[in-house]
Amino acid sequence: MMASNTTTILLLLLLLSVPITTHSSSETETIISRFQHYLRINTAHPTPNYHEAVDFLKSQADSLSLESQTIELVNAKPLLLIKWSGSQPNLPSILLYSHTDVVPAEHDKWSHHPFGAHIDNGCIYARGSQDMKCVGMQYLEAIRRLKSSGFQPLRSVYLAFAPDEEIGGHDGAEKFSQSEIFDQLNVGVVLDEGLASPEEKYRAFYAERSPWWLIIKAVGAPGHGAKLYDNSAMENLLKSIENIRRFRASQFDLVKAGLKAEGDVVSVNMAFLKAGTPSPTGFVMNLQPSEAEAGFDIRVPPTADPESLERRIAEEWAPASRNMSFSFKQKVSVRDKFGNPVLTKTDSSNPWWSLLENAIEKAGGKLGKPEVFPASTDARYFRERGLPAIGFSPMANTPILLHDHNEFLSKDEYLKGIEIYESIIKAYASFEGNGSEGGSRDEL
Ligand SMILES: [Zn+2]
Repeated sequence: MMASNTTTILLLLLLLSVPITTHSSSETETIISRFQHYLRINTAHPTPNYHEAVDFLKSQADSLSLESQTIELVNAKPLLLIKWSGSQPNLPSILLYSHTDVVPAEHDKWSHHPFGAHIDNGCIYARGSQDMKCVGMQYLEAIRRLKSSGFQPLRSVYLAFAPDEEIGGHDGAEKFSQSEIFDQLNVGVVLDEGLASPEEKYRAFYAERSPWWLIIKAVGAPGHGAKLYDNSAMENLLKSIENIRRFRASQFDLVKAGLKAEGDVVSVNMAFLKAGTPSPTGFVMNLQPSEAEAGFDIRVPPTADPESLERRIAEEWAPASRNMSFSFKQKVSVRDKFGNPVLTKTDSSNPWWSLLENAIEKAGGKLGKPEVFPASTDARYFRERGLPAIGFSPMANTPILLHDHNEFLSKDEYLKGIEIYESIIKAYASFEGNGSEGGSRDEL
């Protein structure tokens, strides 16, 4: 049966209204081969080839007619900064951040060479394919598409390719975020890495937990191993360990009951126990030692109350009344330089969050609930300055393989991610502002 004229016209209109965003097959091959090129540059610690990576990325910037400069805040640790000028340079800019370094790979445990970027069954195998060379290249590919479509940014867009994230970021993001060069960029929002999502929804992160590495120590009079007496070092330490174990269980119960996500509770794990009097064959067995020590890796979410945790440590976990003392091997503050929790707001006070959500949806993706990142990323250095920073890597339907053997990303997810960033960068760079987008820096 023939369709009526009206139906034909409606069908035609429908077809025309579908945006043509798919890449042609030769274009797709070129896009993938550029990604492979970046992946094949061995930037693994301890000897990352930073200069080759920066040279390659700079050639990409040149091919897009974008200005770029290499900054060495520390000798031999280059950071490449690329600029796409906006028509209203007074508006706070967008920073698309990524790191060029990757963690080492044990070649013999991989099915393909970790720096071969071999494609198997539509998946690209390489160290850095998830963490986070994908994101760095996707930013550039998205800009390539936006430029060829004739899009003009209102806000300036910067891309930073930084070294050293995998070893703490102290010579990369930390120094960069405190530099005069950074101040001059007048950054309004930072995008940094997230994690792959095994499900259909992408994940986005608004904060991280701060590591507190606690050491508690008990002292007491030594005594014969046969004597029962109070206040021995071991006895006092064990009381604390029992106390800490109960606290750990109470936090874990919240996660198990589904009341809190893992990133929202204080995690405590014992890292070491040190006690006993060594002997040539092990330990002296008939002696109660005068000192005993234990170390804990505590991770504190920015939503926790650090003062009450500190009180708990001083009064219950290492009380002076039980001859105990404590110290921190590392203690990262959960507050920024303004005294606010180090987190990026996800409510209506932060327009960047809803812009991100809408842009992802517009490109056909879905975003899960905002999460606290389980470990550390460079985003913390920007949040500590009071800037909104969102951790996001567009990898859905993908197992989490960062730092693992056989890290891979499928070609389709990679290409889809480019479209997602195209939509995000377009939304961010066109955002005229509503006066509330600058983060806590406005409080200066
Ligand atoms: Zn990373």
